[in-house]
Amino acid sequence: MKKIFFVSCAMLAVLTLQAAPLADRFVWVFGWDLDKDKSISEISQLLETASQHGINGAVFSGFDALEKDSPEKLQRLEQLRDVCEKKHLEFIPSVFSVGYGGGFLAVNRNLAEGVPVNGAKFVVENGNARMVPDSVAKIANGDFENFKGNKLSGFDFHDQPGEISFIDTKVRHGGNASLRFEHFTANQYGHGRIMQKVKVIPHRSYRLTLWVKTEQIQPGGCFQVLILADGREIAPRKFDVPSTTDWKKITMLFNSLDLENVMVYAGVWGAKDGKFWLDDWSLEEVGPVNVLRRPGTPFRVQSNDETTLFTEGSDYVLKMDPINPWRDDGEFARIQIPEKSRIHNGDLLKVSWFHSMVIYDSQVTVCMGEPEVDLIIDREAKILAERFHPKRVLLSMDEVRMGGTCDACRGRNMAEIIGQCVSKQAERIRHYSPGTQVYVWSDMFDPKHNAKPDYYLVKGDFTGSWNYLPKDIIIAVWGGEPRVENMRFFSEHGFETLAACYYDADDLKDVKAWLDLVRKTPKARGLMYTPWERKYSLLPAFGDLLQDKQGQ
Ligand SMILES: [Zn+2]
Repeated sequence: MKKIFFVSCAMLAVLTLQAAPLADRFVWVFGWDLDKDKSISEISQLLETASQHGINGAVFSGFDALEKDSPEKLQRLEQLRDVCEKKHLEFIPSVFSVGYGGGFLAVNRNLAEGVPVNGAKFVVENGNARMVPDSVAKIANGDFENFKGNKLSGFDFHDQPGEISFIDTKVRHGGNASLRFEHFTANQYGHGRIMQKVKVIPHRSYRLTLWVKTEQIQPGGCFQVLILADGREIAPRKFDVPSTTDWKKITMLFNSLDLENVMVYAGVWGAKDGKFWLDDWSLEEVGPVNVLRRPGTPFRVQSNDETTLFTEGSDYVLKMDPINPWRDDGEFARIQIPEKSRIHNGDLLKVSWFHSMVIYDSQVTVCMGEPEVDLIIDREAKILAERFHPKRVLLSMDEVRMGGTCDACRGRNMAEIIGQCVSKQAERIRHYSPGTQVYVWSDMFDPKHNAKPDYYLVKGDFTGSWNYLPKDIIIAVWGGEPRVENMRFFSEHGFETLAACYYDADDLKDVKAWLDLVRKTPKARGLMYTPWERKYSLLPAFGDLLQDKQGQ
């Protein structure tokens, strides 16, 4: 008996030496197509594993557009909730993505943030208004036909002619010559680029097209097209150019913002091997493409002297295909002039509109200032509560790359807008589901991450956004290596935190450091296993680590 008592005391001593269990031990469930039954069975298996290793919550993307989801998809989502319940995992949907737009744009694509085109010139002919493109903006020697030796004329530079870049008269897209790049290791940065400065007119829409052919380019994805001005990218894009491909056309829509000159770059950065060819570039001012139609993005047709603002319907009729903000190669909207219009053949007009932009390969930001967004938040919160009744929710307010440029948000304090938007989301969720714990990604509220001025295409400054957040929102801190200062920042500002770490590494080295940080940071609730590439093989070890099972 004594012996047993002694053993029990020893066990108790060991237990008390161990840290208290973490409140949040989550897994981020991401990368499945929830329109497929197969995904549900795969995720269910993952949840089973998670549960066996002490994970106590699963956070799901894919709950963004419930009002547009089919009954079958809603049933599948409910199955996930039921599996969570059975496995004693907290079911945590992530909702309301503004930076990636998904759910809001599924309801209304016109809710994309817009950048303005001001006073583009049009002339009226045969009952139609036709844009008169300015002749200023163009790529000189865009067909690559004028050269001396290995040097193209008209371009400001291409890297190391004769060493890395070569005129090629055998492999070409059009005409007699193209420019080939290879031997990238002859440049210490692995550069193989070409650049031309181009004059533009401020607040106009331009379309750049070029042709590229590649042969075993390494590493994959190092080919880029950039429009730079004022030391920043004004149209951050990523194109899917395979390591080896025959001639492929790249089309890119951009807005000149308030600039008069831009630098157009194409090529590779950090390349190690392979070849690519460029040919047949063009750049032109374009008419109304990806035109947004909502209260904050008015379409305006004025007389050339700007004294008359014409009326849609009676003075002109706008004909356009439904907007697809994810494409850069859409048709122009057509402006037709009805018989009884105040506009006549031969008149010159100034036309203004707002258009959407794609960031990287698919990000389309939603305008947080447009009142319809609030209505959608309300409807989605209601469906979420009624069908799924979650006790916790993660707000997808991350990587908001645009804002402050349309009439619904222009001139307003961006820090206040984003804080108010999150407050509204939390308030609506709790209205329908009282007591729900609300989490939000950290980056847009973190001064050492994205809460700062000069952020992508945002006009305005996110600095101070954290001051507009309700203090009962839990911050999911993420990004790279353990973020000591970032965790401390939120803790010192009175917020509870969750460390969203992992990011597809082959070991849990970083996770161990994050865990250490969480243990030391006041108000830190726990960790979330967060892969972006569906890598879940280390989840069991992660779960064990959080329960201090390692080394016992
Ligand atoms: Zn806006």
